[in-house]
Amino acid sequence: VNTSGKPDISREKSASLYEKAKSYFPGGVNSPVRAFKSVYGTPLFIEKGDGSHLWDADGNEFIDFCCSWGPLILGHNNARIKDKVIETIQHGMSFGAPTALENELAELILKNNKFIEKIRFVSSGTEAVMSAIRLARGVTKRDKVLKFEGCYHGHSDSLLVKAGSGLVTFGETSSAGIPKAFAEETIVVSLNDREALKTAFEEFKDQIAAVIIEPVPANNGLLLQEKEYLQFLRDICTQNGTLLIFDEVISGFRLGFEGAAGYYQIKPDIITYGKIIGGGLPVGAYGASAEIMDHISPVGSVYQAGTLSGNPVAMAAGIAQLSELLRMGFYRDLNNKTEEFVESIRRFAAARSYKFKVFSIGSIFWFAFTDKAAVRTAEEIDPASMEKFKKMHRELLNRGIYLGPSGYEVGFISAAHNKIDLEKAKRAIFESLDLVFK
Ligand code: PLP
Repeated sequence: VNTSGKPDISREKSASLYEKAKSYFPGGVNSPVRAFKSVYGTPLFIEKGDGSHLWDADGNEFIDFCCSWGPLILGHNNARIKDKVIETIQHGMSFGAPTALENELAELILKNNKFIEKIRFVSSGTEAVMSAIRLARGVTKRDKVLKFEGCYHGHSDSLLVKAGSGLVTFGETSSAGIPKAFAEETIVVSLNDREALKTAFEEFKDQIAAVIIEPVPANNGLLLQEKEYLQFLRDICTQNGTLLIFDEVISGFRLGFEGAAGYYQIKPDIITYGKIIGGGLPVGAYGASAEIMDHISPVGSVYQAGTLSGNPVAMAAGIAQLSELLRMGFYRDLNNKTEEFVESIRRFAAARSYKFKVFSIGSIFWFAFTDKAAVRTAEEIDPASMEKFKKMHRELLNRGIYLGPSGYEVGFISAAHNKIDLEKAKRAIFESLDLVFK
C-alpha cells in the first residue's frame, strides 16, 4: 500500500510491454536484475536517455543514478560519443579483420595506464574475466582459483560459485547447470579475512592459479576494503607464485583513469575491464604485462577469440568516451561532486539518527540501512534491511529518481549530473528517508 501521499507513477505502457516481453523472454527480461523482483511494481521500459535523465514508455522522467549499471560515466547520449559512432558506422559495422580503431583505443589506454603493457578486447565483462582466468591457469599451469564471497565476476561457470560452510571451502555452485567438478576448482573465502587466505594457501599449496577480487567490491553493496588488505593479497600471491587478478569491470576508468590499481597503487598481474571502456557499447578487455599476455593465442597456447571482438563501432565509442576522461580535472570534478552529494545525505541521516549510511568511493555510492561505520564483508549485510530499500526505491521513483532496482546495487554519478539534478535528488532522498523511517 502506498502511504506516501505521492501517487505511484503510471506504468500502463511499461506493464503492457512487460506482459509481451514475458512471452518472449524468460521472466520478460534479457538480464535478471532488470525484472524489478526486489522492488515494487513491474520494470520500467526505457524509451530514451539524455544527459543525466531517463524517460520511460509512459513518459515519466527520472534523474538516473543507475547509468546503465556503470558504463555511462558521461551520461546518456553524449554528443561526442554519438558523433564518433555515427561517423564510424558510415564505413560499415564489422569486418572480422583488424582496424586502426583497435590500435587507437589500445594506445589511449596503454599510454595512460602503467599497470598493463598489452591488452585484448572482448565483448563483455564476463568474457574478459573468463579469459583472464584461463590465462592465469595457462601461465601457472595450475587449476584452482580463489574468489571472495560478495564479489561478482560475471556468469562464467568457474565463478558462479558461493561459499559453502567453513572458513575455507570449495565453493557450491550458485546456479544450476554447473558441474560440481567445476565448483571444486574454485575456493571461496570471506573478504577482509587474512587467516582464511593463509589457510587456503597452506591447504592448496602450489595449486592456486589465481586470486580474483573486485578491488572495490561493488556488486553486493559497496564493500570497501582497506589498502593494507589489498597489499596483503598482493604479497601472499607473489609469495605463492599465484597471479592476482583485479576485476575492474566497475572500478576501471571509474575511480580514475587507472582504476583501482591506480587508486591504491597496487599492481595486480592481470586486470579485467568492461562497462566504461565501451562508452555504452559492448566492450570488455583484459590486460597484463607483455610477458603474461604473450601466452595468448596466436603467439601463445591459451586460446581466446571473438567474432565481434574489437568491433569498430564499439571501439569508436570507447575512444570517444575515454578521451573525455583524460581531460584535466575530469575525475577531480566528478569525485568532488559525488562527495558533496553523499556528505549532505549522510548529515541529514545522522541528524535524525536514522539507521542509514552512505558508503562511497570516487563516483560510486551505496545506500545502506545499517548503523555500522564500515561494511567490509557480504556477511555483515542484514538481508532484512532490504525491505527498507524496497520502500525507498518506490518513493524515489515517485519523485523522479531512478536507482538500480535492488538494495545490493550501487549507484553512479556521471559528468552529466548537474547541481540542479543533485539538489532535486537530495530533496527526494530526504523525503523518502523520512517516510521509510516514520
Ligand atoms: N565483473 C564485475 C566486477 C562486474 O560488475 C560485472 C558486471 O556487472 C562483470 C564482471 C560482468 O560483466 P558483464 O555484465 O559485462 O558480462
